Amino acid sequence: MYKIAVLPGDGIGAEIVPEAVKALKAVESRFGHEFQFTEALVGGAAYDETGTPLPDDTLKLCRNSDAVLLGAIGGPKWDNLPVHLRPEVGALLPLRKELALYANLRPCILFPGLLQASTLKEEVISGVDILVIRELTGGLYFGEKSREKMPDGSQKATDILTYSSIEIERIVRFAYEAARRRRGKLCSVDKANVIETSRLWREIVGDIAPDYSDVETVHMYVDNCSMQLIRNPRQFDVIVTENMFGDILTDEASMLTGSIGMLPSASIGGKVALYEPSHGSAPDIAGQKKANPLATILSAAMMLRYSFDLEKESQVIEQAVRLVLEEGYRTPDLMEDGRNLLDTVQMGDLVAQKIELI
Ligand code: NAD
Repeated sequence: MYKIAVLPGDGIGAEIVPEAVKALKAVESRFGHEFQFTEALVGGAAYDETGTPLPDDTLKLCRNSDAVLLGAIGGPKWDNLPVHLRPEVGALLPLRKELALYANLRPCILFPGLLQASTLKEEVISGVDILVIRELTGGLYFGEKSREKMPDGSQKATDILTYSSIEIERIVRFAYEAARRRRGKLCSVDKANVIETSRLWREIVGDIAPDYSDVETVHMYVDNCSMQLIRNPRQFDVIVTENMFGDILTDEASMLTGSIGMLPSASIGGKVALYEPSHGSAPDIAGQKKANPLATILSAAMMLRYSFDLEKESQVIEQAVRLVLEEGYRTPDLMEDGRNLLDTVQMGDLVAQKIELI
């Protein structure tokens, strides 16, 4: 029996997570596994109910589970809370830190059925299969933050960007191992021409590279990488980068797959891993059944692969998603002429049906 902590969170989180649970239940009934789902509050929803975005009970549940399935958190309702109570800073970052989730894996794969759904040309994106590995517990997001009132009445804000060699080496070795199991190409992304932490990053990659002589290493500045992702995305196999660069580049890379609603993620490193879509709580479409649940469903497939070692079951979910898209079913974010428009629940139902059938 596998224990799964289910944290829907805010906005569309409450709509997409039940669809991923539906897919997991279909896997349960088809393969005879037993998943025990326990739901808990996180983010703005938790703040409203308990006064804190990450209640102790939620953290305890996560620590005592085999894996965590998260929707998304945050939204305008909580944007003006003191910084430590804001869902992103008060829940997401501590959850990652507490569970020691230093590696965030974001596979950016174009499903063939979506070749025409992207805003980019087919000949550029056809065959895209990139794994972005983002460092998740260091860098600017975790650095000290402060505000100062200046003598002239103006304000000064500071965010400290720190990386230790231990943090860099850990994620870079992780990425080399992943590249070794894929096409053997690693692109390390930094801004070593101006930022000191990036200079250290590049030095460490240089020191580690000889241990992985079977992997081709390329260094790229982040500004160039953001351009190359659109110019020629097929040049990339594994990209490894620091926290903020990875956050931004993966939103950009999501458009290679047709929509940000297609990009799953796994955060791993500690005993319990966390699976969530790469997107946020999408307040602009929340409550309208317009959200694409596929990134969350594909995150559940990653859970089966990385946390439970159920490779075949994971592939069945991915295959179900592929078939539904090939048959022309779409949520609004992927909609093209001549396709069948589905809402969030209908898309989840169809994927679950396919899982039981194929
Ligand atoms: P967002 O990812 O929530 O939305 C960006 C755009 O993509 C919106 O137009 C949205 O409608 C669309 N979109 C996102 N997911 C979609 C889906 N599954 N299907 C269809 N369309 C989808 O980013 P944002 O608007 O910058 O942030 C909204 C809130 O989410 C903020 O409070 C932000 O801090 C939070 N956030 C949370 C996480 C997280 O929980 N991991 C990540 C990013 C942002």
